[in-house]
Amino acid sequence: MAAPLPLPDPAADPSFAELIAQRPHLGADAFSGLMVEGVPLAAIAQAVGTPTWVYAAGALRRRARALTGALAASGLRASVHYAVKANSNLAVLRVLAAEGLGADVVSEGEARAARAAGIAAADIVFSGVGKTLPELRYALDEGIGQINLESPEEAAMLSAIAAARGVKARVALRVNPDVDAGTHAKITTGLAENKFGVAIDQAPALYAQLAALPGLSPVGIAVHIGSQITAGMAAYRAAYARVAELVRALRAAGLPVEQVDCGGGLGIPYRDEPAPSPEALAGAIKATLGPLGLPVMLEPGRWIAGPPGLLLAAVILQKQGAGRRFLVLDAAMNDLVRPAMYEAWHGILPVAAADLVAPVSPADVVGPVCETGDTFARDRAMPRLAPGALVALLDAGAYGAAMSSTYNLRPLAAEVLVDGDRFAVVRPRQSLSALLAAERLPAWLA
Ligand SMILES: *Cc1c(COP(=O)(O)O)cnc(C)c1O
Repeated sequence: MAAPLPLPDPAADPSFAELIAQRPHLGADAFSGLMVEGVPLAAIAQAVGTPTWVYAAGALRRRARALTGALAASGLRASVHYAVKANSNLAVLRVLAAEGLGADVVSEGEARAARAAGIAAADIVFSGVGKTLPELRYALDEGIGQINLESPEEAAMLSAIAAARGVKARVALRVNPDVDAGTHAKITTGLAENKFGVAIDQAPALYAQLAALPGLSPVGIAVHIGSQITAGMAAYRAAYARVAELVRALRAAGLPVEQVDCGGGLGIPYRDEPAPSPEALAGAIKATLGPLGLPVMLEPGRWIAGPPGLLLAAVILQKQGAGRRFLVLDAAMNDLVRPAMYEAWHGILPVAAADLVAPVSPADVVGPVCETGDTFARDRAMPRLAPGALVALLDAGAYGAAMSSTYNLRPLAAEVLVDGDRFAVVRPRQSLSALLAAERLPAWLA
């Protein structure tokens, strides 16, 4: 079992000034209030309305370079495959494609988004515990660079399709190293009880089986132990050490291993957690897998896309409850589900210059959805905010818009990309008419 998350002590929450200072793409001044790169958030709200996701292109680029740079500096031959599920917006993918990143996808939709953003099929890894037959056919049609297999059943399905076409699919075997990544139970993936991968002790026999199938060409081992890993490098090292041992056994058995896919999961500091650095991860890979002399792949999602994004919202009203003050926003759990789903902590900043320096007192910051779980923060030190005042929910670029829904028939929020002092809408707000027009009455009810 993953350890329970410690409850945050509101008195120790970082201040507004600290939240801004720790995020290089944020700034504030007395004239513009809170800004992303060179763009005041008030200007975005004015032009696009709220709620709106805002992504900082400069921060995306810096983070992509920090990762590739750390891997290169460690002397590893490494490629970074951005996990598209964290944020699949086409403009975000385009920025990362231009940085030379490949993609890790878990559906045909994500693969098509990566291709549309200009990522070569050969630089795409197709992951996931249940790829459908049409998805496997698509992956072969498109020439996807590596398909990560998670079961002998899936291997048989893929081999049959590939063999019928007279081709061999490049596959890796995803192993489950039975390592506790020390993360939230809903996002740990490397325990024996989880649905992912094959048990590492069965991998040698299975890998030999893959090599014997007519439609498969096994090229390596893949591992991914969980997400939002902040508890140091111990879990990564343990998992990679087991993978290194496995690769040695496969080689000794004369089986081909060209590369190792190290997965993603690198955590970020949402509040003030000590978060591991790309250098630490590169060091863990180097120490464990380095001696094999193989190219390695990394599949980070959150680490790249999380910090550069925020959710811009407006206060609908402030409500005084029985002993609690509620700030009711026009954003809700259908937009950003992480607090409801993972008890996640997100920094919340007022946008107006005056609100950033006004006196604060505890408030619950909530959305208008009809669920008590629709709570972004409890007892958060916030100023009094008038209806229409803007706030920014920070570090929402990963698993934010990508996980949003239209629950309560709330349209999907707009998405904006900021790049220096420019910004553009990269996904318009869904219109209510588009939301409602998607449904049909059966003839007998019309
Ligand atoms: C989700 C996922 C990732 C990315 O995880 P992050 O925590 O966002 O880095 C990478 N690889 C696989 C197989 C995944 O399922």
